[in-house]
This record gives sequence, C-alpha cells and structure tokens, in this order.
Amino acid sequence: MFGNLKPLPQDKILQLMSMYREDPREQKIDLGVGVYKNAEGVTPVMRAVKAAEQRLWQDETTKSYTALAGEPAYRDAMAALILGEGHDASRVAGAATPGGTGAIHMALELIQMAAPDATVWLSNPTWPNHPSILNHLGMKSAEYRYFDPETRGVDFEGMIADLGRVAPGDVLLLHGCCHNPTGANLNLTQWEEVAAELKKVGAVPLIDLAYQGFGDGLEADAAATRLVASRLPEVMIAASCSKNFGIYRERTGILLALTEDGAARDVTQGTLAHLNRQNFSFPPDHGARLVTMILTDPELRADWQAELEEMRTGMLALREQLADELRTLTGSDRFGFLAQHRGMFSRLGATPEQVVELREKHGIYMVGDSRLNIAGLNKDSVSVLAKAIAEVGV
Ligand code: PMP
Repeated sequence: MFGNLKPLPQDKILQLMSMYREDPREQKIDLGVGVYKNAEGVTPVMRAVKAAEQRLWQDETTKSYTALAGEPAYRDAMAALILGEGHDASRVAGAATPGGTGAIHMALELIQMAAPDATVWLSNPTWPNHPSILNHLGMKSAEYRYFDPETRGVDFEGMIADLGRVAPGDVLLLHGCCHNPTGANLNLTQWEEVAAELKKVGAVPLIDLAYQGFGDGLEADAAATRLVASRLPEVMIAASCSKNFGIYRERTGILLALTEDGAARDVTQGTLAHLNRQNFSFPPDHGARLVTMILTDPELRADWQAELEEMRTGMLALREQLADELRTLTGSDRFGFLAQHRGMFSRLGATPEQVVELREKHGIYMVGDSRLNIAGLNKDSVSVLAKAIAEVGV
C-alpha cells in the first residue's frame, strides 16, 4: 500500500526554516515563518494566557468530553469579539475547530455539502494553504486579481472586474484584515463595494480572519467583517486565535456561519457539529477554554488587550522605521508601502533572484515570493535589512 505513495514537495516555508537553522552566520535574520516574535526573537506566551492556564489548572475538575461543536460559551465570546457585543446571535451558528486552518477546512466541507457546484474564488496571491486544501478536497476554485506589483497595494479595479465573473452561489474567500502574504488591504469604502457586488451576484463570502488585533486594532480589524455581515444574508467566518492569543500549538479556531434566519441557523449548527464528529469528534478544548476565560474576565481581558496592543504597535513602529531608512538610503518614496501595509507580512516585490541574493549574501531569509515577516525584525536588524534591500537594488 505505502509503496503507492509519491513523495510530496516539501513545504517551502518549512524548507526555509531548516536552511536558516543550518546557516552558521551570526548575523542572520529570519523573516520567513509566520509567527510573531518580540525584539528578542521569542514568541512569548502572553501574560493573560499564563494566568488563565494557572487558574484552569487549579479549577478544572474534569477533562471529560465537551460538546461536539465546542463550548457554546466559546462560540458566544468569539462571536462577540468578531461581530461586536450587540450582534444578532440568532443568525450565528459556530463550531470550535483545530486552529484557523481547521475552520477553513470545515467551511469548505460545509460548502461541499450545501453547494457542491460552487467555485471558491481566491485572491491572487493568497495563503498557499487555501488552494492546497481546496485541491485536497477536490473542489473547484478560481482566482481574482488582488495585488498590484507596481504599487504593492490592492489592484481594486482588477478585483472588481474579476468579481464580475463570479456566479450566483459561488464563494469568495476574503482576508478580513492583514492580508497574507501581501500586507495590502482594502479600505472600508472598497469593502462596501465588494459587499454590494457579492449581494448583486448572490455569492457568499468566506472571511479568513487570522490576525484580528495585528493591524489597526481589535475593533478596526473586525470592521470589514462586521460590514459584510450586516450587508449579506449568509456569511462564513473562519477565525484563528493562534496569532492574537499567541496559542499557535493549542490549535484554537472557530467557524462562524451567519444564516438568513433562525431556522437555517439551527440546521447549520447541527451540520457543523456533524462535520466535527466525522473529522475528529470533539474539537481541542484547552485553547478555546483559555480564550473564553480571557474574553469574559475583565481583568484578564484588559491585560490581554494591552499586550496585544504592544505587539501591534511594535510591528507598526518597525514598519515605519524600515520605510524611513529605505527612504533615506534610496532617496525615494517607493518603499512607503511598507508603512501602509498592515499585519505581520509585506510582499517586498523583490525578484526570486534578489530573494536568493538577500539570503546568500546577507543572511536574510524571506519566502520566495519576497514575503517578509515584520515581526522577525527588531530596531537593529531593520537597519541591516534596509541596507541589504538597497544594495540588492529591489
Ligand atoms: N489563514 C491565514 C491567512 C493564515 O496566515 C493562517 C496562519 N498561518 C491561518 C489562516 C491559520 O492559522 P492556524 O491554523 O495556525 O490557526
């Protein structure tokens, strides 16, 4: 049996990680893998998470199974975080999933059950796991234009033109904030236009929300999702707690499905529980429980928000420093987009050869499409990176 298996190509980011580890140079910089790092290069356990874990260790009396869709309190707390305190809960079905990836996987399975002929539209480019899971599930997909390599902003005209090709019942996958890999995002006026277009066509948005709190703040980063939720009868939201709670390995995510009415909500809720049952029975609980504790305890929540805000503003300061240093070094404003982009990532716009040169000559590791992780920098390494970018002539 196993002899029939063909070796699969190694994940490019993981490949890059092992190259970085094997590089003996002291002044190497890892801008590859997509995890937040502080100025010391550490991905910390957040204070509120530690405190919640301590409480949980003391208070938890059983580790028996929970509910198939996860604890309702987790769904409610996450729905409030994403959709706002006053959201209409009667429309919201939701299930805890193993990470944001699990939520995306479940959303696609839900689409397969409800609309097997739907095409899922992806931004070009997008997080590579999107097309990869779609292919794995044997689903139809298509691309819409998104990134303008000249301005390093959104090619909004191209995007809207491509939305004209979306058919009724198709699904459009959108990054709710902090687009990965480009860092380029729609403004709210543009979101409004996208929502109107989807409504006109009768297409359903699937919003991937993996970085709420990493861009312009917890509320601002949810604004686009809330706008879409208020304009369209049906919306799916695949959210991840990996980044904003720093609980990557706990595998904590949620799929929310906003339905047209309460009757559809109940059936959808049952379907989400069924999907969890088929895939792995009960979703992971530890991370979801920590998140619920943090979101519902005013003290823990305030501390979590404060630390998240430090992380966010720290990344913004690094963006501004990098853009400033490049302005000085190149005498031009062409890297201004680095300060405009939001989230951990920016697509620098370097050629594949320049990416290799940055790695081989300067020990700077970024993904082949020139995505760099801003959180991999600190005040000192920004200057090293800026000089290298200028020297390589990006
Ligand atoms: N969506 C996007 C765009 C991401 O970048 C990530 C994390 N790399 C995820 C979803 C899922 O993250 P996780 O499964 O680790 O929660």
